[in-house]
Amino acid sequence: MTNTEIIYQALLSSGIEIPELELEEADGRCIACGKEITEGAKLKKVISSNFTDYDTFKCPEGTHICKECGVCIKTRELRINNFIADKNKLYLFKKSELEEYLFNLKKYVQGDFVIGLTRSFKKHNSFRCTVNSSFRHFYIREEDKEYLFNTALAKELYEKLWRMYLYFTKDELITGFYSVNKIHEFGPDEFDTYENIMKRYRGTHYFDLLIYMLDSEKRNEIVAERIKQQKEEKQRQAKAEKERKQDTQLKFD
Ligand SMILES: [Zn+2]
Repeated sequence: MTNTEIIYQALLSSGIEIPELELEEADGRCIACGKEITEGAKLKKVISSNFTDYDTFKCPEGTHICKECGVCIKTRELRINNFIADKNKLYLFKKSELEEYLFNLKKYVQGDFVIGLTRSFKKHNSFRCTVNSSFRHFYIREEDKEYLFNTALAKELYEKLWRMYLYFTKDELITGFYSVNKIHEFGPDEFDTYENIMKRYRGTHYFDLLIYMLDSEKRNEIVAERIKQQKEEKQRQAKAEKERKQDTQLKFD
C-alpha cells in the first residue's frame, strides 16, 4: 500500500469525517503519489491557493490526483496533529505524547505504518510520508524534512538528555555552549562523558526532535524539588554548625 492508501484506510475507521472529492474519469498517474489511476480529482479542487508543496509531488505532469491522496490533503486533522497510522488505525496526538508513541510503536501499529509530525500545525505531512515496516529504524516525516529514527539510539540519547536537562537549558543542549557553573554542578567528569556522546549527534534532525520532546513542566518540578532539598540541607548544616559553636562556647565558659 502507498502512504496515502494506508492513511485513507485508517481514516475510514477513525470516526473522522471523510472530505468529499469530485472524482471524474482520468487516465494516467496521480500527481501526488504517481500511481496509475482511472479516476481522480482535479488538483485545483483539492488544494488551496496557499499550497506550496509541489516539489514533493511524484508526478507533477499529471492532471488528476487519486482519491486517497486527495482525501489526505483535504483532511484538516492530518495537518493540525501529529499522527501515526497503519491500515487499521489512525492515532492523532499532541507533543506531550510523542515520547509514548515513538518509543512504544509496537504497542500501536502492525505491519506497514507512517509517521507525520508537526510543529507548525498547518503543513502537509500525509502524502509526503515514507512507508515504514521496521520498528527499529523508521522514517519520520516532519513537514519539510524527513529523517531516519533509530529507536535504540534515540532511547539512549533521550535518557542522557533528560539527565542533562535537569541542569542545562534546551538552548545549551542544542548549541553545545554550556554555562561553566552548571557544568560544575552537573559534575565535570560525567559532563565530559555525556557531552562526548551528544556532540556526535548534535545538529541532526532526530537530536533536535529529542530535545523538543523534553517536557519543560516536568523538568521544572524536578528542579524545584532539587533546589528545595539543597536549601533544606544548607539550613540543616547551618543549624548544626551553630549548635557546635554554642557547645564549644559552653565548654570555655
Ligand atoms: Zn495518489
